[in-house]
Amino acid sequence: MPRRGRDFIQLPGPTNVPDRVLRAMHRPMVDFAGADFTAMARGCLDDLRRVFQTEGAVYAYSANGHGAWEVVFDNLIAPGETVLMPETGRFSQSWAEMAEALGVRVLTTQAFHDGPIDPAAIETVLAADRDHAIKAVAMVHVETSTGITHDVAAVRKAIDATGHPALLVVDAIASLGCVDLAMDRLGVDLVVTASQKGLMMPAGMAFVAVGERARAVAASGGAPRRYWDWRLRTGEESYYWFYGTPPVQMMFALREALDMLFEEGLPQVFARHHRLAEATRRAVARWGENGEIGFQCRTAAARSDVVTALTFPSGADPDALRALCRDRLSVAFGGGIGPFAGRLLRIGHLGDLNEPMLLGALGGLEVAMRASAVPHVGGGVDAAAQSLADTLP
Ligand SMILES: *Cc1c(COP(=O)(O)O)cnc(C)c1O
Repeated sequence: MPRRGRDFIQLPGPTNVPDRVLRAMHRPMVDFAGADFTAMARGCLDDLRRVFQTEGAVYAYSANGHGAWEVVFDNLIAPGETVLMPETGRFSQSWAEMAEALGVRVLTTQAFHDGPIDPAAIETVLAADRDHAIKAVAMVHVETSTGITHDVAAVRKAIDATGHPALLVVDAIASLGCVDLAMDRLGVDLVVTASQKGLMMPAGMAFVAVGERARAVAASGGAPRRYWDWRLRTGEESYYWFYGTPPVQMMFALREALDMLFEEGLPQVFARHHRLAEATRRAVARWGENGEIGFQCRTAAARSDVVTALTFPSGADPDALRALCRDRLSVAFGGGIGPFAGRLLRIGHLGDLNEPMLLGALGGLEVAMRASAVPHVGGGVDAAAQSLADTLP
């Protein structure tokens, strides 16, 4: 049966690409060596520093988030050197697997799958590392697989408390442009992100922001590398900034997306994400009033403003619920991934999103739960509407 109307993409990435961004991409090719494109691309990389909240340099790669992950190890960590990667879920695990594949030694922590990283766990590992073998602590800010925001400031404090010189590296792939992360003020040495989440673009570009200390390490350290080497990505021509042909249409998309973020204002963007997330949480709390549906994140304050992960009673099948939503109600949600496969439904509420879009998505989920007799209390959409009314800016 053909379906009409717009499909709702409520994934924790890729996110909705605004019509403005789509239109900005829909143009004939231009000469990337021309003055106009060069100035536009340079302006994008410079302006991205405002989004990263850093005075450091921003480098761009034609890659997805996994590419940005590899930038970290290749530039900072030689094979045989050690990183500490707190265990937060599917994304910290995949990142750690990449490190190991590149010959990096990985230390980890106990699992923080239903609450934020305990900074004491970081402190313990660093304090035991007397000869400073650990070169970096690499953490995920918003762990998309669990819907948890991990506290970057708390991890920074734990590092400082031990006087350990390890760099602090943060995966903000799901959080940049959604949740406040003041890189320089927080003492973060390197932040990585990708284009298809808070930046509201298609997948295909990765960005890294590099502070002074990380730059100094890369100047003489890191692994043998070429494509991922940020030291090559300088010079007068855009061809060098991308180590080859620039992804021209993606840069037009980035320009438009940055303009949209700055027009709204970053504090307002963060506040909007918080409001929409809070409304989502109210809906989930209502659905779960009979104790069946719950939050993967048990610590209320750490539930992320980017994605909410719902747990279900045994016997309920979140993947079947998701399929019903996607195939018959035109709304796509994320499922459980990695250690959470088959157990979660994840509602993405990030990027180009407003109140009626969110209510529509939550409404679709409530219809699906009724239709498939998933045990829940009705009225989640009503609770979300009340929350949005109470917090209307
Ligand atoms: C989406 C995501 C990634 C992976 O990004 P890809 O573009 O799919 O490679 C990594 N980390 C986090 C936290 C993410 O949300």
